[in-house]
Amino acid sequence: MFATSQIEISRSAFKNNIDFIKKMIGNEIKFSSVIKGNAYGHGIRNFLSLAEENGCEHFSVFSAEEALIANKVKKQQSQLMIMGMLENEELGWAIRNNIQFYVFELDRLEKALQIASKQNQKAMIHVNLETGMNRIGFEEYELPEVMKMLRSEHLEFMGLCTHLAGAESITNYYRVKKQLIKFRQLIKKFKANALFPKFIHCASSAATMNYPKTRFNLVRIGILQYGLWPSRETLIQFLSKKETHSNPLKRIISWKSKVMNIKNVKTGEFIGYSNSYLAQEDLKIAIVPVGYANGYSRSLSNHGSVLIHGRKQKVLGLVNMNMMLVNITDIPQVKKGDEVVLIGNQGDQEITVSAFGDFTDQMNYESLARLPDQIPRKIVD
Ligand SMILES: *Cc1c(COP(=O)(O)O)cnc(C)c1O
Repeated sequence: MFATSQIEISRSAFKNNIDFIKKMIGNEIKFSSVIKGNAYGHGIRNFLSLAEENGCEHFSVFSAEEALIANKVKKQQSQLMIMGMLENEELGWAIRNNIQFYVFELDRLEKALQIASKQNQKAMIHVNLETGMNRIGFEEYELPEVMKMLRSEHLEFMGLCTHLAGAESITNYYRVKKQLIKFRQLIKKFKANALFPKFIHCASSAATMNYPKTRFNLVRIGILQYGLWPSRETLIQFLSKKETHSNPLKRIISWKSKVMNIKNVKTGEFIGYSNSYLAQEDLKIAIVPVGYANGYSRSLSNHGSVLIHGRKQKVLGLVNMNMMLVNITDIPQVKKGDEVVLIGNQGDQEITVSAFGDFTDQMNYESLARLPDQIPRKIVD
């Protein structure tokens, strides 16, 4: 009720993915579940609880805003790490709540130290290093100053980290290798100064799969836990090293709506806005109450498919803000209220996340992250 579509998250599929990841990385390496971007559209609140049920206890978010949401629902012993945006005004809150955070500029490090001493607490920091992505991270010349501050009793040196640009494709091999060499060089500097971080980390899903040496003692994994691959190449690389030729991961998300209205259209009539679809025959169409305002991209106009009665049916004409029109001429028995699957299975048919994104040139990451928070999420078996 009160929603035109809903998202389901599969408990068993998630368990399958976590088991796969844990088995691959072993017991020695800590697993951080990346839940930025509203848990890649899966819904941070539901997803976090499901992950905790399956033994996850470390979570990575992008900003203080996301950490605030996660901090409200997480179990006390679960740890949070902010990998990006945090205002100096939010530092007091983060430190008070034992939230770990990246530092990549002296200003933030100084403020964190000041506030932590004032609150008589420890700021749990991860020192983020620039190694070649050229995004965020301390430059090498800043490190003597960083190391000096790290000796304070009010800073806990939780991590030394960086992010690798391009690990999703072997064509970036030299760039990744260069970054890794740089990272190791910088790690040595810290160690030579008797500064030992609890965790050393740089690997996302792609690096974890394609470059096992990048795992150090913590991996930050997002897309794999949701049952998708960072790139097709990563899947192919993985399968080529294995006996099996089947994908070990399972998509955990499904997105469903229902038929809102049904209409017959005569040959020669245009359908919906504009003149993007002209009926070449007498048609029967179903109106589905999901449009681009609900996360269904307008670029899927005349291209997208959905499942009704276990059959793949085409989206006709332009996707509207809140509705789309679907061809049901071949299944005239469809009636108002029947289930429409936008992502997921129905019978033996499936709409994959990539099929839902392909035509729009969106990556899996983007199509998922754009699903609005307003769509209700629920956990199913
Ligand atoms: C998003 C992100 C990850 C996780 O990436 P996946 O490809 O989804 O595994 C890891 N580290 C950082 C810094 C990120 O921003």
